[in-house]
Amino acid sequence: MHVEPALGQRMQGGEVPEFRWTLEDDECDCVFQRIGEWTNPYLGRTHRVRLCCIWAELYKEFPQYVQDIPAFYNHNTGEYEPEPWEWNGEADMPRAFWYRQLASLMGSSLEEVREKYKDQQPPKGTPRPKLVQQEVRVNLHEVVGLLTERAMIAEEELNKAIAVIAALKRDELQLDRIVLAEGGFSVLPAEEEVSDAKPDGSDNDRYK
Ligand SMILES: [Zn+2]
Repeated sequence: MHVEPALGQRMQGGEVPEFRWTLEDDECDCVFQRIGEWTNPYLGRTHRVRLCCIWAELYKEFPQYVQDIPAFYNHNTGEYEPEPWEWNGEADMPRAFWYRQLASLMGSSLEEVREKYKDQQPPKGTPRPKLVQQEVRVNLHEVVGLLTERAMIAEEELNKAIAVIAALKRDELQLDRIVLAEGGFSVLPAEEEVSDAKPDGSDNDRYK
């Protein structure tokens, strides 16, 4: 399972590796797998580095600069927690991750754990409850009916306004009979006809 340095993963022109190194590929024994990847479509090149393995070699050379602590450092509490947590992730526990947890719990090597647990499944995830989206069903006929009704009301209002303007222009309506209310208007009923008005309506003096 080790990436043999001698093997040299250097790819020859046009050659593509069998599979892509990922953080959880379990292809090395490093506790924290770290892969660096640089890829660029314009250059047509990908540069992928197993940083964890390179660092592991460096750690051997400079052990005085490395702290390897058998506990989790909780940034919230500032305390070390030696007991590994139980898996509470949303997805299933990644196998590579699980092996490392077991190795830590059992004090075994990764090789032993892989052999012993290869046929078993890692802890299942606990999916978060999904947000229930309220579905609003719309009856198209109802909507069309409602809009038609509104259009008819609007048309009626417009006709009424045109009639009022016409009456004003013809001097058949006094302005004070028009009352503005709630974004619209209404016309107060006419007062009793002036008794001496001529029946043919030609006497316009009554409004003066
Ligand atoms: Zn590694």
